[in-house]
Amino acid sequence: MDTTEIAVIGAGPAGVSAAVAAARAGAKVVVIDEGARAGGQFFRQPASPPNGATPETLRQHFTRGRELLDGLSHPNITIRSETVVWNITPKRQLFLNRADGPPKLQANRVILATGATERVAAFPGWALPGVMTVGATQSLFKSQGLIPAGRVVLAGSGPLLLAAARQLVEAGAKVVGVFEATRFSRWLRRAARFQNHRDRALEGFDHWQRLRAAGVPFQFGRAVTRAEGDNVETQHAASTASVRRAAVSRVSEEWRPVPGTEKTVEADVVCVSFGFIPATELARLAGCAHRFDPLVGAFVTETNETLETSLAGIFAAGEVRGIGGAEAALAEGHIAGLGAARSLGYKVSEAELAEARAPQSRHRAFAAALADLFAVQPGLSDFADDGTTVCRCEEVTAGELREAARSGAITLNALKAWNRCGMGLCQGRMCAPIAAQIVAAEIGVSPASVGVFTARPPIKPVPLGIVGIVEDPRPTGPAMEDHVGYGRAVIR
Ligand SMILES: Cc1cc2nc3c(=O)[nH]c(=O)nc-3n(C[C@H](O)[C@H](O)[C@H](O)COP(=O)(O)OP(=O)(O)OC[C@H]3O[C@@H](n4cnc5c(N)ncnc54)[C@H](O)[C@@H]3O)c2cc1C
Repeated sequence: MDTTEIAVIGAGPAGVSAAVAAARAGAKVVVIDEGARAGGQFFRQPASPPNGATPETLRQHFTRGRELLDGLSHPNITIRSETVVWNITPKRQLFLNRADGPPKLQANRVILATGATERVAAFPGWALPGVMTVGATQSLFKSQGLIPAGRVVLAGSGPLLLAAARQLVEAGAKVVGVFEATRFSRWLRRAARFQNHRDRALEGFDHWQRLRAAGVPFQFGRAVTRAEGDNVETQHAASTASVRRAAVSRVSEEWRPVPGTEKTVEADVVCVSFGFIPATELARLAGCAHRFDPLVGAFVTETNETLETSLAGIFAAGEVRGIGGAEAALAEGHIAGLGAARSLGYKVSEAELAEARAPQSRHRAFAAALADLFAVQPGLSDFADDGTTVCRCEEVTAGELREAARSGAITLNALKAWNRCGMGLCQGRMCAPIAAQIVAAEIGVSPASVGVFTARPPIKPVPLGIVGIVEDPRPTGPAMEDHVGYGRAVIR
């Protein structure tokens, strides 16, 4: 087993900023990320240098990201890329899926900077080839320079829609429509909240203007509620269905599709995103306390002012604490890095910590205004008719979820036992938020009371042989403390 003073899980803005702050304070740090290159979602770096087709906005991201990532060359920092942390104990033992070296790492301190996953909607046709998330499209574009071929529709809610649409258009993609579910009247009612964040709000306005100048239709209060495909010949199969059109409907303030408003948009690619869900699996597995954040519409990891969680020695920074954006992630990584180093006895003054905290509240205030504007609405679960598959790994439909809820399966864990929802390869990362909303709507409760799936190791797919390194996977008595948190996370 390897040992380190501080293990940082995640090399996005939060993780990199944490690692650099802790290393500069004197601590020895190991940074682990499943990706091949550091940078996370926002500062994702290209596999090969940007070329003439790379939009200016992306070039700026790449350059700023490279400057940040340069900090990782500090002699106190070791990087483990292409390494998945698939298990963690409350005593900070990490289990790694890596090609070489010991598969376990004992850390004196852990900083969880695992980011977020995208929230999607389940609607008839959402599993057709050609329907994907906005983030996936953006990731392919940022890392490989790939843009979707044919007519592209973007739909959902949140700032990523505008930013990604602009990047795609500037890279030459044929975007035929952007549909934001939140109504314009809601934007107007909340405009005052952005008064103190004019520069950030203007960024969004600039995206919108660029789309307008490029002739891309942008509509508020609309959503893709169905995707339809035709059989097409491909290189790999004689005949396979692929998306060809999207049904776009007006939606109410609560995102309920308005009957009789459906219009068809011809499209070869439909990209959907309804914001983000904090990736709290490792934090929950370790046993850290979590609370439901109604604006995020999901559970977030609780921390104190130095971003230490309820478990001594485990810190959390960035999206895992609640969706805050890259700037908040950078600020929080800095705080967590200093906090973790200080708790190990390295000299970090109160003034340094106070200086690190100053930008955090500003960025979190902006994030709160955005979260309020784009708050996920209950009508999202109406997009799935009874025949729509919600859990794609285990092929569980919305109808089966509704029936289970009516029969008494009113928590996600109960659903899992009832019909295997969330038990597949993705461990509920994709379906849990939708399933929670469907159950909540069916029995008339808040998604908070439906809870979360208990995190289980391995949290991500790993070769079966590697699981064998947990010598005693189900210990009893005091030994349990040293092992995985079988449902021990405090969920408020
Ligand atoms: C698909 C997607 C696209 C986004 N696009 C934008 C955008 O265009 N603009 C914007 O402002 N915000 C965007 N965001 C939001 C964005 O995540 C942030 O604001 C910012 O990157 C958060 O930083 P972070 O360090 O908290 O997390 P991230 O940047 O998400 O970094 C988390 C890192 O942790 C790693 N990781 C997670 N779990 C494990 C594990 N078990 N083992 C090993 N490594 C692990 C991941 O590989 C990742 O590199 C996007 C988010 C997503 C999910």
